[in-house]
Amino acid sequence: MKIAKTASLPLDVIRGTSKERHTKMLAIADEIFEKIVEKPNDLSLNRLQQITQDTLTKTAGDGRKINIQIKDYVTQGACEGKEYLIEKKGTIEGFEILIPTENGALKPSHLSIFMHELIHALHQITNPKVMALEGAANISKQQHIRALKFYENTLYTGETFNWFNPISAKIKQTIALRGIDPREKIKILQDCRYSLISEFNAYWEGERFSCKAAKHGINTNYTTDYDCIMFDEKIEYLEKEIAKLIKKVRKNNK
Ligand SMILES: [Zn+2]
Repeated sequence: MKIAKTASLPLDVIRGTSKERHTKMLAIADEIFEKIVEKPNDLSLNRLQQITQDTLTKTAGDGRKINIQIKDYVTQGACEGKEYLIEKKGTIEGFEILIPTENGALKPSHLSIFMHELIHALHQITNPKVMALEGAANISKQQHIRALKFYENTLYTGETFNWFNPISAKIKQTIALRGIDPREKIKILQDCRYSLISEFNAYWEGERFSCKAAKHGINTNYTTDYDCIMFDEKIEYLEKEIAKLIKKVRKNNK
């Protein structure tokens, strides 16, 4: 997918290793957070929107206006917040963060959820190559549904730890993505891998921001029981599978 200027930071801002980009992302998140908690009694969406927008525009430093829209979200089920890409005709133009509100303001208890969703958006803004992978695999609609199910039901889900049945035995991408060209499979698995990394960061940082918020008198809800998702094991599994597929494609090209 193509990425508009309004959906990513300039290359010279995000140039470097993935670790450096991660540090950059956290610095932006911290800056936004610190500005928000300066006035713990005013968590209006307008203010959050302004702070986020101004910080990103200042970080970009080349006059571009990052398109990020913070909107009210009517909670559905267990899901308390959402982050979407704004996409038009195959181009990603920006981000939408949906969060439950009360009288136009974020509920203080939801500040860490806001930070969780913000981390997703910042992860994308600082990793445009990752964003470009979104929907990049040239597969049929049916295969696309299967890939999504594979992510939702096998990867982004809780597990019971079992010494005798390692995670790699449970995740069978070869079966879930059966019949898909190895080249396209690589893109799907890379996309899954980045999604898991983003999710792990969002939980981890959400917890950190929650502790920081408490010091400003804001008590937020946050989840600490994401260990059961076994992010590390799954990311490692995907890395191995991707390496195997790359080898296979290279061999076939000889
Ligand atoms: Zn998330």
